[in-house]
Amino acid sequence: MTDDPRSDSIFTRIMRGEIPATLVHEDEHVVGIQDIQPQAPVHVLFVPRKPISTLDAAAPEDAELLGRLMLAAAAYARRIGLGSNGYRVVMNTNRDGGQSVYHIHLHLLAGRQMSWPPG
Ligand code: 5GP
Repeated sequence: MTDDPRSDSIFTRIMRGEIPATLVHEDEHVVGIQDIQPQAPVHVLFVPRKPISTLDAAAPEDAELLGRLMLAAAAYARRIGLGSNGYRVVMNTNRDGGQSVYHIHLHLLAGRQMSWPPG
């Protein structure tokens, strides 16, 4: 499944309430959405309200917003008690990165031992 870059992303439509989803975090800039196809016991997507298509398209003025994604993920992880066991955050970017939804998002994966290198 790949997003059509000409239309609003799935995540924008979730934020507007047009598509149902479980939100675990919401603030002025960032929304945390439970992934519909979880790859770990905890799998949450931290998505900026601003629809930046990929990390490759991020601009210097997005620096603060990118930091907000990281901090929102870390705060959520702490809130649900993952801080000490740990977790992984990933931003798949463009084709080789395995990106399928073209609205930037940070995956928070946890609740099992992660392996390295990733597939
Ligand atoms: P990507 O492949 O772009 O890094 O990640 C996109 C993620 O969005 C995938 O993990 C996929 O399961 C998730 N996803 C795709 N469509 C939906 C949806 O309609 N609702 C939710 N909650 N997650 C979705």
